[in-house]
Amino acid sequence: MSGSLTLPIPFNAFGREPEALINSQLTAVESVLRQGPCVLGPQVERFEAAWASRCGAAAAVGVANGLDAIEIGLRALGIGAGDEVITTALTAYATTLAIQRTGAQPVYADINPATACLDPAAVARCIGSATKAVLMVHLYGRAAEMTAFQAICSSHGLHVVEDCAQAHDARHCGRHVGTFGAFGAWSFYPTKNLGAVGDAGAITSDCPELVAIARQLRNYGQSDRYHHDRLGANSRLDELQAALLLQRLPHLSAWTERRRQIAARYWRELVTPSLQLLEPPRDPASHVHHLFVVRSHARERHQQELLDAGVSTLIHYPVPAHHQAALGAHRLDPAGLRHTLEHCDSCFSLPTHPALTDAEIDHVIARCNALA
Ligand SMILES: *Cc1c(COP(=O)(O)O)cnc(C)c1O
Repeated sequence: MSGSLTLPIPFNAFGREPEALINSQLTAVESVLRQGPCVLGPQVERFEAAWASRCGAAAAVGVANGLDAIEIGLRALGIGAGDEVITTALTAYATTLAIQRTGAQPVYADINPATACLDPAAVARCIGSATKAVLMVHLYGRAAEMTAFQAICSSHGLHVVEDCAQAHDARHCGRHVGTFGAFGAWSFYPTKNLGAVGDAGAITSDCPELVAIARQLRNYGQSDRYHHDRLGANSRLDELQAALLLQRLPHLSAWTERRRQIAARYWRELVTPSLQLLEPPRDPASHVHHLFVVRSHARERHQQELLDAGVSTLIHYPVPAHHQAALGAHRLDPAGLRHTLEHCDSCFSLPTHPALTDAEIDHVIARCNALA
């Protein structure tokens, strides 16, 4: 992909979708319209089957969004008031919010500064008598070292569960994320690697009981029509979003490949000492580059210089979860969250959207290398 350079370079280059994809989505929408309004119908069933098979999971349950996917998965495991869930403070706040909404309390373990993902040793020292689960986040599209976390969790009788909102198609040791723990929670928010055209989410799991409970929880807690066995929600995946996702899914591999090319160029060609890069993945299949995050000791100035040169950047994330006003009771890593705080104070993200052209990536690299 070469192409021309028009500044500014957007962070998310929406509106550049191939004509064939636009047309196939229009046809899919038309068929939903002709079939008539329907909730939890054939499109949702088809997408659930397609997504489960893509992940190598026994089943997928379509839900309204990624936040609900995490909350419903945790509640299906019986996690609630009085329980603790260990996770990272460096993530979208939805990760924490899902724990809070079950009534459980988050416990924050520190990250490994080289990958920005949870550090297994930090998770181990956070385990207490109320701990029920470790909620892993495959942050920025990098599959966490699941084998290490599975070992810690199984030796303490804890559930390991996965927030996969940023990691569609990422693999650890050849196996798709979202299939290591009791469940994987997915978001198909438009900016994610596989995005719908509005909100959408899913839970993947190999556990038939968990899947059955999740199906009830997303639909008013109904076991049978008008029989409500559990405190449920209305969190159904929409037929139209499912129909659109079915058209978009065949493009995911090409989009991921393009993200890998862009990230590989950044790792190879960003040579300025002004920016520190995270550790490149040893196994290319383990990273799907949802975000390409760098660290800078002069973040505000560097972001401004890039913006002046037509390069849009964002910060993921400026405020760690444990500094958010909406957070209630929680515990912190006994060793503190030094690496999390240092990362939040210095990180920013470069554009990695698969629709970016080579000319745009050339420009981003040149401007980054010109930072003093
Ligand atoms: C986007 C995101 C979520 C929330 O997904 P929504 O569909 O927006 O509710 C949760 N966790 C992480 C890590 C995310 O990036």
